[in-house]
Amino acid sequence: MEPSFTLPARLAGEAPLSACFQCKKCSGGCPLTFAMDLLPDQVIRLALLGQTEQVLSCQTIWVCSSCQTCTTRCPNNIDIAGSMDWLKQEALRRGISVPQPEVAAFYRAFLDTVLAGGGRLSEARMLTRFFLLKMRHRLDARELAANVRLGWKLMKRGRLPLTGPPSLKGIGEIKAIYQRSGWRKP
Ligand code: SF4
Ligand code: SF4
Repeated sequence: MEPSFTLPARLAGEAPLSACFQCKKCSGGCPLTFAMDLLPDQVIRLALLGQTEQVLSCQTIWVCSSCQTCTTRCPNNIDIAGSMDWLKQEALRRGISVPQPEVAAFYRAFLDTVLAGGGRLSEARMLTRFFLLKMRHRLDARELAANVRLGWKLMKRGRLPLTGPPSLKGIGEIKAIYQRSGWRKP
């Protein structure tokens, strides 16, 4: 057990986690609790109790889709969705095994594609990156074949162009944001 101030102190945003009085409104509104191993209010409680390892290795932080429902509902203005994002980053920083590697691969593919695309997203390139990253963890030949078939159909209808949009003029600012966030290519 780590000192109870460690995570809450680092998660302190507009309103600190310590303001949580366990009303459970966040969990009551979350649309993804069916797939979570801990409820959002339990993540907050465990973080307050300093249960760092349990919080950083749970599935919940990776299942969370950042829909912001919990943050909107919290009577204490706690940024629960932002905390979930921070916890994902912290888990990666500490090299903790991700229980849902496909989710981490998706985030990585998205960020990498935006950076390589001059601040714009090419869906075809992102999907290619995503499947390559995903295959490092699990190769499902049937799923791959089905996705290639679907991608080909979309391309034929002009819904998945291979060429991405032109770079943004302010790509320097985008790069600075990546740099400040500590992003590095895997
Ligand atoms: S809604 Fe806010 S105060 Fe209520 S349990 Fe969730 S985090 Fe705590
Ligand atoms: S942001 Fe995450 S934890 Fe909050 S309601 Fe949405 S899915 Fe649930």
